[in-house]
Amino acid sequence: MFIAHLPAGYLLTRFLIGRGWHRAAPPGVALVVGLAGALAPDLDLFYFYFVDHRQTHHHHYWSHWPVAWLAVAVAGAALARRHNGAALLLLFGLGGFAHLLLDTLVGDIWWLAPLVDRPFALFTVPARWRPWWLNFVLHWSFAVELVLCAWALWKWRRGKEARAKEQKGGCRDQPRKSL
Ligand SMILES: [Zn+2]
Repeated sequence: MFIAHLPAGYLLTRFLIGRGWHRAAPPGVALVVGLAGALAPDLDLFYFYFVDHRQTHHHHYWSHWPVAWLAVAVAGAALARRHNGAALLLLFGLGGFAHLLLDTLVGDIWWLAPLVDRPFALFTVPARWRPWWLNFVLHWSFAVELVLCAWALWKWRRGKEARAKEQKGGCRDQPRKSL
């Protein structure tokens, strides 16, 4: 997945915040943490390009192992029973896990790593065009990415409008209250 990790992370985190999964954390902070989780697995691209010099598929690194992100989410859920702040760890882990679900659409993910060295992908993108990324952009799966982007944009705008309305209402109320 190319462009939809951030929008998908936004949709997921907003959904979880709406259900109170952020506990006592300010929603803005929870949103940033959820977005960071949604992007975090791809930070291994720095290692891929600058250290590993493209020797290994970056989905093969532990940062793209589902068990790693599941462990973060489970640890967050367990700790959140005692400390509200750990709910942020849960959001971060779920963001990372969602990233791998989306990557599985057309990208290989080693779902059973480190036990089984076998990648899984729902669909394969045929190599027809150059440069390589054009194959992904011209594949139908890119439409899924665009839908996620449009959905997140719509959700963000709706939230912004709602907040603006709330603020207007608050400003109108204040003078009345002070009278
Ligand atoms: Zn990825």
